[in-house]
Amino acid sequence: MARIGLVAHDDKKDELVAWAMANRDKLGQHELWGTGTTGGRITEGTGLEVTRLLSGPLGGDAQLGAMIAEGRLDVLIFFQDPLTAMPHDVDIKSLNRLATLYDILFAPNRQTADAVLAAL
Ligand code: PGA
Repeated sequence: MARIGLVAHDDKKDELVAWAMANRDKLGQHELWGTGTTGGRITEGTGLEVTRLLSGPLGGDAQLGAMIAEGRLDVLIFFQDPLTAMPHDVDIKSLNRLATLYDILFAPNRQTADAVLAAL
C-alpha cells in the first residue's frame, strides 16, 4: 500500500476529481492524503477516504512537504496551474523541491499521474 498525497490548484480541481473517479478502485487500495479543499472535493466526488490536511495556502502544502521529508509519503499527485499566480508560491516551490529532492513518484499533471498509478 502506497501513501499518496493529492493536491490540485483551483483551476485543476475538477480535473483531479475526474481523474480520481476514473481511478477510484485503484486509489482505494492506497492510503490517501490531501490538502483541505482538494481532499474534501475528492471525497465528495468519489466517496474515497482522504485524510485532509490544512488548506494549501494555509499550510497544507507545507504539511505534505514535511511528510515527504520525514519519509511518510511515497507518491505526490499535484495537478498544478501554470497560468495563475498563487499567494503561496513559496510553499508550492518547496513542495516541488522536496518531492524532487527525496526522489518520490511525482505527477504534476494528468498524463504523468496515469503513468505513476500504472507503476504502483
Ligand atoms: P487546497 O490547496 O486543496 O486547500 O485548495 C491546494 C493548493 O495548494 O492550492
